[in-house]
Amino acid sequence: MKFVSTRGGEKVNGAQAVVQGLAANGGLFVPEKFPAISVAELEEMLEMSYPERAHKVLSKYFTEYDSKELLSALENAYEKFEGDPAPLVKLDDGVYMLELWHGPTCAFKDIALTVLPYLLKKGCDIAGIKEDILVLVATSGDTGKAALEGFKDAEGVRVMVFYPLDGVSKIQKLHMCTQDGNNINVVGVKGNFDDCQTAVKEIFASAEHVGKLKEKGVVPASANSLNFGQLAPQIAYYFSAYLDLVSSGQLEMGEKIDFAVPTGNFGNILAGYYALKMGLPIRRLHCASNLNSVLCDFFKTGVYDMNRELVKTTSPSMDILLSSNLERLIFEISGRNSKLTAKRMAELKVNGRYEITPEELKDISEIFDGGFANEDTCVEAMYNIFEETGYTMDTNTGCAMKVAYDWFEKNKKDETDMIIVSTANPYKFPQDVLYAVTGNDVKDSFKGIKRLHAATAMAVPKCIKDLKDKAPRFTTTVSVDKIFNEVLNFISK
Ligand SMILES: *Cc1c(COP(=O)(O)O)cnc(C)c1O
Repeated sequence: MKFVSTRGGEKVNGAQAVVQGLAANGGLFVPEKFPAISVAELEEMLEMSYPERAHKVLSKYFTEYDSKELLSALENAYEKFEGDPAPLVKLDDGVYMLELWHGPTCAFKDIALTVLPYLLKKGCDIAGIKEDILVLVATSGDTGKAALEGFKDAEGVRVMVFYPLDGVSKIQKLHMCTQDGNNINVVGVKGNFDDCQTAVKEIFASAEHVGKLKEKGVVPASANSLNFGQLAPQIAYYFSAYLDLVSSGQLEMGEKIDFAVPTGNFGNILAGYYALKMGLPIRRLHCASNLNSVLCDFFKTGVYDMNRELVKTTSPSMDILLSSNLERLIFEISGRNSKLTAKRMAELKVNGRYEITPEELKDISEIFDGGFANEDTCVEAMYNIFEETGYTMDTNTGCAMKVAYDWFEKNKKDETDMIIVSTANPYKFPQDVLYAVTGNDVKDSFKGIKRLHAATAMAVPKCIKDLKDKAPRFTTTVSVDKIFNEVLNFISK
């Protein structure tokens, strides 16, 4: 299978797409053509385990990887999860939560970042790259931790994570800064997530920077949803959720369903769109934002406008104005017009805004809609579900819950099943979740964990329990313009 850049020009295989991360012209790699999964194949997949289902999806994209080896890599990855990697929990008739946070770091990023090390290292072998890999990560919290855990002590790999100093929760920060492993570094950046992401993207885009790294014997690689190697494993849980509904008799094969997805960089929900493109019967994808409602506005108006202040919210994984993966949707919706996509991305860079045509907006609206939650309505949605069903969710998922509620309210006769994609264990945001379900406000995260446990009786996961007695290993902070210096320092050690 070949991959092309959304901005034209380049054509590479899957291994190269994963190793390079971004196309040389700044574009994102997309499959030249979406491979299909037929109804007959869906039927076959009903009986399969999660890793087997994921293998079915991934082997269609990564045709130059050894199929048996890919399957065993997936089996090893998902063994790190507690039980089913993507279980469905029924909230009500036709309403389900898809819990993606049973992995080693308790967030949905684990689904991909337990697999990416294999895809990347094998990809280097296939592409004939001999240098060590330097994985550079900009994170709003969860990707960083999942990448550190996924790549720690991997041979021939070093990992460097940049997070916004004031843009992650206290638990997320502790999680990253206490990480073990002899090949890692974690740096706080004086700026917001967009600043971190832009600085890291610029390293990849600069021939001079990449050259300097090569001189030191490393090639940079990315571990975020811009990398197709991270996106691909996410397509699988859309299939798996659908198949679980069919195999448990709650859905007829072929019947369409909806997903509501808490969205930041547009990676998770884009994977849902890719699943649809492959033939999964999805009717609508509901894109949920928080107060940083750039995406929600885009789906309503066709204008992407990031000329506004980034607001810090209690759903920090979604505190983003530049949703980079939207470029892949724009590319599809323009009829795969790479010139137009490049032009729009150039406009975005210069003016912070671009617009799609009314026809394109109409096409997008057949599948996507956008909604958002403010701080109060997010809490309200979380509280209501807790009251009605006893179910506790995290704050990011709370935003998607609110958007799903709004949809139900407006479409009372709608019989289509709704799956809300749940992205983090509630204990990752203990104080805010505690506040939502009980109204109690505590200052200390560990007190929050204790009280949340008392209020919900939900088990505290291992990755959270272990945190309390750990001291931070990493305390370096830098300004945005010093990020590359810090990279050079790290690899010179
Ligand atoms: C990363 C993340 C999101 C946003 O996902 P995108 O793929 O960036 O849209 C939402 N919730 C949580 C908990 C996350 O970690």
